[in-house]
Amino acid sequence: MDRIIIENLKIYAHHGVYREENERGQNFYVSAALETDTRPAGTADELELATNYGEVCTFIDRFVKGSTYKLIETVAEKTAEALLMQFALVRSVTLEVRKPEAPIPLPFESVSVKITRGWKKTYLSCGSNMGDRKAHLDGAVEALKADPKCRVLRVSDWIETAPYGRTEQADFLNGAILLETLYTPEMLLAKLHEIEREHHRERTIHWGPRTLDLDILLYEGCVMDTEELTIPHIDMENRYFVLRPLAQIAPYERHPVLTKSIKQLYEALPETTQLPQEPPA
Ligand code: ADP
Ligand code: MG
Repeated sequence: MDRIIIENLKIYAHHGVYREENERGQNFYVSAALETDTRPAGTADELELATNYGEVCTFIDRFVKGSTYKLIETVAEKTAEALLMQFALVRSVTLEVRKPEAPIPLPFESVSVKITRGWKKTYLSCGSNMGDRKAHLDGAVEALKADPKCRVLRVSDWIETAPYGRTEQADFLNGAILLETLYTPEMLLAKLHEIEREHHRERTIHWGPRTLDLDILLYEGCVMDTEELTIPHIDMENRYFVLRPLAQIAPYERHPVLTKSIKQLYEALPETTQLPQEPPA
């Protein structure tokens, strides 16, 4: 992708582990490479279509001066995050924070940290079969919209589905959501659990009735398997209540392991998918 590059913006600030550094301050040098599509602005020659690098510099300057952190890691982390939330056209940023006057009693040129952060595309599934099901699903979307580290891009219709696994329970309302997020998969899962708790979700019976269930289906091209997280979501290719709403908002998205499109997976579901299935042991 195209990049806007800012090199060695000099900022006098007070970050450091030592009190002396916090009191007296020193020079920091910030470099940033902003990934953004510059073609619309470049083609039309319109500032409104561009990310204004003057504004970016002023923003970084204010932000880095505006607080005191012990670590340049934190300066980089917080600045990158703030930039991504502030400048809508920036997809990702590589940010370097350099500290040439760091208190090291040896000859050296400078120390720095350099990080890359960006918006990640992710698909969630949501479901409810207790209480006001629609209110729970709508509430989940509102909670995600209220989080500055999430941007809700698309929401499917809520559809009525028969329970999967333990079938002696009420029908579900299910849907899918497309988000862009600054969270890692683990952080996103924690956020989803927080929203579930706000909707009084109790983890009692596995596959049992629930006010709200929020799962991560896909996260960029990510393939992972840990105790906490399986991405793409385990068994999603066999679930009507996942694929039907997902196919509505993302028919041409590809499952990174099965390498089939969501539309293909949905169309390959057997007629019997909605019949009772055995819950896991
Ligand atoms: P389920 O969603 O399977 O019906 P829960 O909502 O109670 O059941 O989730 C149980 C656990 O599944 C979560 O605590 C989480 O650690 C784990 N999990 C693994 N992969 C995912 C994923 N992709 N999305 C959400 N949870 C996941
Ligand atoms: Mg879940």
